[in-house]
Amino acid sequence: MKSNSSSLIKLFILQWLAVVCVAQNFDFFYFVQQWPGSYCDTKQSCCYPTTGKPAADFSIHGLWPNYKDGSYPSNCDPDSPFDQSKISDLSSSMRRNWPSLACPSSNGFTFWGHEWDKHGTCSESVLDQHDYFASALGLKTQLNLLQALKTAGIQPNGQFYSLNSIKGAIKAGTGYTPYIECNVDVSGNSQLYQIYMCVDNSGTNLIECPVFPRGRCGSSIEFPSF
Ligand code: 5GP
Ligand code: 5GP
Repeated sequence: MKSNSSSLIKLFILQWLAVVCVAQNFDFFYFVQQWPGSYCDTKQSCCYPTTGKPAADFSIHGLWPNYKDGSYPSNCDPDSPFDQSKISDLSSSMRRNWPSLACPSSNGFTFWGHEWDKHGTCSESVLDQHDYFASALGLKTQLNLLQALKTAGIQPNGQFYSLNSIKGAIKAGTGYTPYIECNVDVSGNSQLYQIYMCVDNSGTNLIECPVFPRGRCGSSIEFPSF
C-alpha cells in the first residue's frame, strides 16, 4: 500500500514535469515590421538613431508571442532582464535591421530591451535571448516586403494605394496574407505603418495567421517616402 501510493506520487510528479517542460505558453508569433517613413510622418515625429539615418526599408518592430484567441502574454519573466552582452555578435545587424526611431535619438538598446522584456520573455521556453533576436533577424531576411510591394508597382513615393492591392502584393511575394496597420500623417491621411506576418511557435516558419489584430485603414492608403 505504502509503495503503491509513493509510485502514484512519482507518476504525478513525472506528469507534471512533462506538462511544464513541453508547455507552449503561446500559440504563434506576430512578426511586425514598420515603415520608417510612416513612423516619422506623424504629429509626434521621430529621431534618427545615434548611428545615422536608417535605410529606406521596412525595419523590425518586434516578434510577439500571441494566443489564437487574439489575446497575448506580456512581461512574462522579470528574472530574465535584457542583457546586451548576449547579442553582441548580432549588434551590427540589429542596428541595420531593427533601428529605433523614437525620440530622443538612441543606439537601439532601449528599444530592444523593451521588446525583450515585454514580448521575448514570453517565448523563452523556445527561444533564449540570443535566439529570439537571431530569429527575428532571420525572418526579416526571409521576407523582402519592400521588394514584394515594388514588384507590384507599389512604391514609397507619397502616392495612395488600395488596401487590397497592398495585401495582394505581399501575398504574391511571400505566399502569406499580412495584416496591415495604418497610422495617420500630419494632414490626417491614412498611411502604411506596420506589416504583420504570422510565424509558428518555433519562430522560424511563416504560417497563415490564426487570427488578425483589429483595426482599420482608410480605403486609400498613403505610402510615404523616407
Ligand atoms: P498599440 O496599442 O499601439 O496597437 O500597441 C502597443 C503595443 O502593444 C505594441 O507595440 C505591442 O507591444 C503590443 N501589442 C499590440 N497589439 C498586439 C497583439 O496583437 N499582439 C501582441 N503580442 N502584442 C500586441
Ligand atoms: P511596443 O510596446 O509598442 O512594442 O513598443 C513600443 C515602445 O518602444 C514604445 O515605448 C516606443 O516609444 C519604443 N520605441 C523605440 N523605438 C521605436 C521605434 O522605432 N518604433 C516603435 N514603434 N516604437 C519604438
